[in-house]
Amino acid sequence: MGLKFISFASGSKGNCSLVMTDNTAVLIDAGITVKRLTEELAKLGLVPEDLSGVLVTHEHSDHILSIDKFSEFTDVYTSDKTLKAIVNRNKTIDKVGEVLNFMYGFDIGDLHINPFSISHDAVDPVGYSITSGDAKFSISTDSGVVTKGMLDAIRDSNILLLEANHDINMLRKGSYPAWLKQRILGIRGHICNDVTLNVSCNIKSTNGNLQQLILGHISQENNTEDLAYKTVYNGLCQKDLLGDTNVSVATQDCATQLFKIL
Ligand SMILES: [Zn+2]
Ligand SMILES: [Zn+2]
Repeated sequence: MGLKFISFASGSKGNCSLVMTDNTAVLIDAGITVKRLTEELAKLGLVPEDLSGVLVTHEHSDHILSIDKFSEFTDVYTSDKTLKAIVNRNKTIDKVGEVLNFMYGFDIGDLHINPFSISHDAVDPVGYSITSGDAKFSISTDSGVVTKGMLDAIRDSNILLLEANHDINMLRKGSYPAWLKQRILGIRGHICNDVTLNVSCNIKSTNGNLQQLILGHISQENNTEDLAYKTVYNGLCQKDLLGDTNVSVATQDCATQLFKIL
C-alpha cells in the first residue's frame, strides 16, 4: 500500500498537510481556510467529505485556525489536554475521533498513527509518525530541541518533514523583541537550521531508506527557503551522507508536490 504526503501550508501563518493511501486520507493540522483546503483537495480529486480525520499537533493558532469548521466534516484527533486547550480558545469541536489511549497509537482506516511528544510551549504538543505496511511518514515541527524520543520516533521514516525554523544569526540580529527571540531560542521554541542539519545527519547515518527530507515551518522573518535548503543539503553532502535522499522545502503559501514512497 503506497503512502503519499503533501504539505498545503507550512509556517507560522498556517500549517496543514495530508497523508493518504488509496483508501484513507487524513489531515495534519488545520491552519488554512476551508476554501483553501477545498481547492487543494480538488487538485487531488478529493472533497472534504473524503477525509477520515484531522490530527492536531498543538493548540497554537497557526495549527488550529479552522479546526472548528474542519470538525463539521471530519473527526478531530488529538490528546485530551490539547482538545481542552482548543475548546478554551472558543473553538467548538463537532466531531471528536475516539481513541483508547492517544499516545499509545491508533488506526484510522489503513493508516497507523503514532503520536510522539515534542518540546514546545503548548499544553501537550506532539509530532506524528504514520505507517501503512512498510511505508513510514513522520512530521516534527514546533519543537525547541530534538529529544532522543523524537529521534527514535522519526529515525526510520521514508518521508520526513522536519522543522528548519530560523537561521540563528538572522534571528539574533533581527527585529523581533527580546522576549520573542528568547521564546524561539528556548527549549520549548523552535529549532534552527544548524540543529536541523545535525538531526538530518544523525538520521541519515543509520537510515538508508529516507527518500524525501522536507524542510518546513521556515520563518519568513529569520530564515529563507534558500538558506535552510543550502544549510541542510550542503551539510549532508559535505559529510557524504546525502545518498539517494531528495531534499526540498515546504513553504507558507504554496503546496508542495505530492510525495510518494517508491
Ligand atoms: Zn507552528
Ligand atoms: Zn507552535
